[in-house]
Amino acid sequence: EKEILRGYIGRATVTADNETKEVFCNIGNVKDAITAAQKDGEGIGLFRTEFLFMDKPSAPSEEEQFEAYKKAAEIFNGKPVIIRTLDVGGDKGIPYLEMEKEENPFLGFRAVRYCLSHEELYETQLRAILRASAFGNLKIMVPLVTTVAEVRAVKEKVKKIAAELEKSGIEYDHGIQVGIMVETPAASLVADLLARESDFFSIGTNDLTQYTMAADRGNPQVAYLNKPYDPAVLRSIRHIIRCAKNAGIPVGMCGEAAADPLLIPLLLDFGLEEFSVSPTSVLATRYQISKWTKESAASVAKEVMNLETADAVERLLRSKVE
Ligand code: PEP
Ligand code: MG
Repeated sequence: EKEILRGYIGRATVTADNETKEVFCNIGNVKDAITAAQKDGEGIGLFRTEFLFMDKPSAPSEEEQFEAYKKAAEIFNGKPVIIRTLDVGGDKGIPYLEMEKEENPFLGFRAVRYCLSHEELYETQLRAILRASAFGNLKIMVPLVTTVAEVRAVKEKVKKIAAELEKSGIEYDHGIQVGIMVETPAASLVADLLARESDFFSIGTNDLTQYTMAADRGNPQVAYLNKPYDPAVLRSIRHIIRCAKNAGIPVGMCGEAAADPLLIPLLLDFGLEEFSVSPTSVLATRYQISKWTKESAASVAKEVMNLETADAVERLLRSKVE
C-alpha cells in the first residue's frame, strides 16, 4: 500500500480516463500548511481559522492574522488557499468571545451569524485576509451559510474593506473570490440561488450530514444516523454539485467524506472537482481517484442511488471498492 502510494507523489490527480481533479488539504494553522505542501497537497481547500482564535487569552490581532494568511499564501506559491472565516459556536467555543450559553448551540448564534453582528471582529479578519491576498492566491469562504442575504452581507463587507484599502494605497487581490460552504439543508435546497451569488462552493459533509439527519455529529447514541451514506445526504450532495455545474462555478468538498474511498466513485460521478482532505490522506485520495473512469463510476452511482438505506449503500460500495 505505502509502496503504491509513493508512486503518486508529485503527480497530477487524474481519473483512469484522464480527467483532471484536484486534491487540496484541510489545515488549522501555518505549521499544517507546511505539512500540506510536503504531503503533496495541490492547494488548501479549508483553512479552519478558528484555531488561530482558540487556546488564546484574546483574539489574534489583524497583524497576527495577516502574517498567518500571508505565510499560507506564500507556502502555496500561487496555488489556491481557501481561508474560511471564523466558524465559532456549535462545538467550537472561544472563552473570551463570551458567547451566551444556548439551549441548542448547533442551531444557534454561530459562524457567519455571529460574525455578521460582531463587526469589528469580522472586519479585522476580512482586512487581514484581503491584505494577505496580495501575496498569493487566497480565496474567502463563508461557513454555515443558510441564506442568500448572508452571502450578500459578507460580500458588501469585503467590498467596503477593499475600498478602504484602496484609499490607503494598500495592496490586495482585486479579483479575490468569495465562496461558501454548503453545509446546511437550507443552503442545499437553495443551492441554485446561492450559486448566483458565490464564486465557488465547498460542501461541508460533516455539518451537512448532522443537519440533514438531525443527528448531532458528536453524540454516539445517534451515530447510527450520522452517515454520509444515507440516501438523504447523497441526494443532497448530488443536488449541490448539479446546482454549481448549472451555474458554472467550481465545486469542492472539505468534509471528511471527501477522503472516504467508498464515496469517491459517487463524488466523481456527481462531478465533484476538488477534494479537500487531511494532509495525510492526499496520496491515498489521489490513488483512489485514479481507479475510476466515467463509466465505472457511473455504473456504481446508478446502482447506489436506487438503494433505500445507508447500510445497503455502504455494503454495495464495499463490494465495489477494494
Ligand atoms: C464540515 O462541516 O464538513 C466542515 C468541513 O467543517 P467543520 O468540520 O470545521 O465544521
Ligand atoms: Mg462545518
